[in-house]
Amino acid sequence: MTGSATILIVDDEERNRRLLDLLLQPEGYTTLMAVDGKAAIAAVAEHSVDLILLDVMMPSMDGYEVAAILKADPASKSIPIIMVTASVDRDTRLSALTAGVEEFLTKPVDRAELWLRVRNLLRLKEYGDFLADYGTVLERQVEERTADLQRFRLAMDSTADAIFLTSRATMKFVEVNATASTMLGYTREELLTLGPRDLRSEARGDPELTFDALVAGDSVNTLHKTVLRRKDGSDFPIELHRHTRQSGDDWIIVSVLRDITEREAAEERLQHLAHHDHLTGLPNRVLFYETLKNALAFAARKKCRVAVMFLDVDHFKDVNDNLGHAAGDKLLTQIGARLVDCVRLRDTVGRLGGDEFGLILTMEDDEQGAVAVADTIRQALREPFYLSGNHVSVTASIGVTMYPADGVRAETLIKYADTAMYGAKQDGRDIFRFFKPQMNTDVRTRLKLEQSLRRAIENEEFVLHYQPKVRLSSGNVVGLEALLRWERPGHGLVPPGQFIPLLEETGLIGKVGTWVIDEACRQIAAWSRTDIGALGIAVNVAGRQFLDRELDEDIATSIQTHGVAPGLLELELTESSLMTNTLRTVETLHRLKAQGVKLSIDDFGTGYSCLAYLRQFPIDKLKIDIAFIRDVTTNPTDAAMTEIIIRMAHSLKMDVIAEGVETAEQLTFLARQGCDQMQGYYFSKPLPVAELEVLLRASTRLIMPLGPDGATLTTVLLVEADLERLSTLVRLLQRDGYRILTAQSATDGLEQLSHHEVQVIVCEAELPFTHDVTFVGHATDLYPDALCIVLSDRMAPRSAAALVRTGALYGFHSIPWDAEALRDNVREAGRHHRRLNADMTPAPAPSLADAVQV
Ligand code: C2E
Ligand code: MG
Ligand code: MG
Repeated sequence: MTGSATILIVDDEERNRRLLDLLLQPEGYTTLMAVDGKAAIAAVAEHSVDLILLDVMMPSMDGYEVAAILKADPASKSIPIIMVTASVDRDTRLSALTAGVEEFLTKPVDRAELWLRVRNLLRLKEYGDFLADYGTVLERQVEERTADLQRFRLAMDSTADAIFLTSRATMKFVEVNATASTMLGYTREELLTLGPRDLRSEARGDPELTFDALVAGDSVNTLHKTVLRRKDGSDFPIELHRHTRQSGDDWIIVSVLRDITEREAAEERLQHLAHHDHLTGLPNRVLFYETLKNALAFAARKKCRVAVMFLDVDHFKDVNDNLGHAAGDKLLTQIGARLVDCVRLRDTVGRLGGDEFGLILTMEDDEQGAVAVADTIRQALREPFYLSGNHVSVTASIGVTMYPADGVRAETLIKYADTAMYGAKQDGRDIFRFFKPQMNTDVRTRLKLEQSLRRAIENEEFVLHYQPKVRLSSGNVVGLEALLRWERPGHGLVPPGQFIPLLEETGLIGKVGTWVIDEACRQIAAWSRTDIGALGIAVNVAGRQFLDRELDEDIATSIQTHGVAPGLLELELTESSLMTNTLRTVETLHRLKAQGVKLSIDDFGTGYSCLAYLRQFPIDKLKIDIAFIRDVTTNPTDAAMTEIIIRMAHSLKMDVIAEGVETAEQLTFLARQGCDQMQGYYFSKPLPVAELEVLLRASTRLIMPLGPDGATLTTVLLVEADLERLSTLVRLLQRDGYRILTAQSATDGLEQLSHHEVQVIVCEAELPFTHDVTFVGHATDLYPDALCIVLSDRMAPRSAAALVRTGALYGFHSIPWDAEALRDNVREAGRHHRRLNADMTPAPAPSLADAVQV
């Protein structure tokens, strides 16, 4: 009958009806459609329907109601109903079964499952119909009965569920299907000698009473879960579903059983997943919390103590950012495993989220036990972790609370441990801290500050102040550094040191950093349109911002929006942010460089920059950290460091700027060492826009302090191919405190001139640049401001004198030169240059006697 059966599809949505129809077609069933409950009841009355697929959610009458009506009517009560529902929870299933529904299918409907359920139910219906006639059948001919039985058994045997027919009178099975044999490991014949009691794994309740209740109409159609025992003694879970049929004086109990071993295993897996962290396999926050509650109850009974630890890995984000998330995951797993090794079996380690772990330690003694464990943990984490080819060291900050001293509730203890962990972070990380009530106040202050900062972003309470950067050789302002200030209502102007760390910690730095870049670009554009002109601005970029992929997009957008030449924007990056992941850093830097922005390293010298790395970075400028400048004139180490940084930067063709220059002595020292630029209170503090504009409009220049001989600082370029002669020149002129640059070829000399403002050039007269142009000729063409003193062993003094007279040369000395005369000439050239630039009446040209030394 199954093939030719008529199936009624009840669903208010046409799409669903069509889909079910389509799915059923290959099985050769006849289908009827009903658009709602009323139409379904009418269809059942009119046609001979063998099975109904019934939607739950329908307007006016839902599926449960339809099922209840059909099942209450004796004419339709034997028609099996499959409820089609989107919900799979137990309550839905039970309501469906209570309404008399035989089966249910979940949406989206799986074709194979649909076929199986429909086929099984149609067979069961045939069987049910047969049973209803059981009494009649008994009276029929024996052969006829046998034939019927065989036919039905064949139908039953192909169902996936086990079916048992039990006689209430004998409490023995009177019929079983093939699946029942396979499921329990007994032959059919063996089963027919057994009854329900023989299959139970444990004697729970009396089957006779259960059956009587069923016969009485109680709990018919309800779903039971129980455990059966196979012939081999193994137990397995089943879901059981029973009907009763009267057969003469006896009652037959039809039990349909489904093996739910796999489903239970899946549910168990789900349970495990819901309570364990998938990465580390440790208890998750939910289970940790439950475990803590149990531990506290136990401790209350036994009068012992419990320590709750909250552990956060320091700078975990760096690992993720630098080595990738896979390595980050690996690290967390390994940390989890090490933590487990640090505690006793009865203690609990859980992963509370991200890089946070929790520990529950039950202990008899006081805090000392917790101290010991915290120390063990710190020791254990100190051993390097091996991740994707890298050895990584990590530290952690740990917060500890004690039950019952700090609190008695799980929530409170976890919260306080978290607070104490935060205290450990504040105190410099890689330490543990016990909770103290004061910490709550600290946290509240921090929370308040964080809230205020969020509001500050919305209310645009940030402003930029600008500090000029000055070129030492000219004294001119050559750029500005933008420094963030917060105009916090009720607090005045807050310096960045008080809020940047929190912005970084909370990730808010991203938003603020984007604003800083945009505001700086807007300001560059605004000044470009005024008499102030195009002036470069440097912005500070936090480590977190630098590693953020959106930084280059933000920059590109701002540059474009405001129409700024990219070279006017400079990024000041910190040494540490460049050193964390050199490979990625190099890529990022090149991407930024490709946009045309300038790059510099801020606070240089305090980190651990490796020269080899520095070479790979497309950096334009190094900024010597204020820490070296502060005592540069009194502390020899600081002086040496400063000198080394300047030399190194120059050899890598980078500019050097010193920050925090406050005194004339510092400035003179820096100038002597050839430092290119300075920034500091000596020239100007960071200023708000209006004040800065006054300074810029007045063309304020840095006046160099006077040198030992009353001369301000002069840069002298020495170009000499002969190394020995060059060294002699350096030694000779160094005494006068000049900033000395050297070159051994025309090309090197021109390169120095392009990088530095040079006032005096001392060079060999004949040094060729091209075959018909000398270096002197070319240099004086390109840099007419620089005064040239030439040395020659060939040039006739007469022609040299002529050149000096025309002003093309400032001086001439034949080789070997008179040291003192050359010294005087250079000093005079420096003064002359200053006079020219100070707009004073030009000094008389040097007397020929001084300038031309034969
Ligand atoms: P920084 O980039 O090294 O900035 C130099 C700091 O030194 C500034 O402090 C400046 O006011 C101060 N300073 C300048 N000249 C002198 C001087 O002669 N003597 C002394 N003692 N100090 C001087 P400020 O403005 O408080 O900024 C502190 C730090 O905050 C900056 O150090 C920078 O790292 C950070 N910062 C400032 N603005 C921003 C920003 O927009 N974004 C980010 N990420 N960080 C910023
Ligand atoms: Mg800076
Ligand atoms: Mg700095």
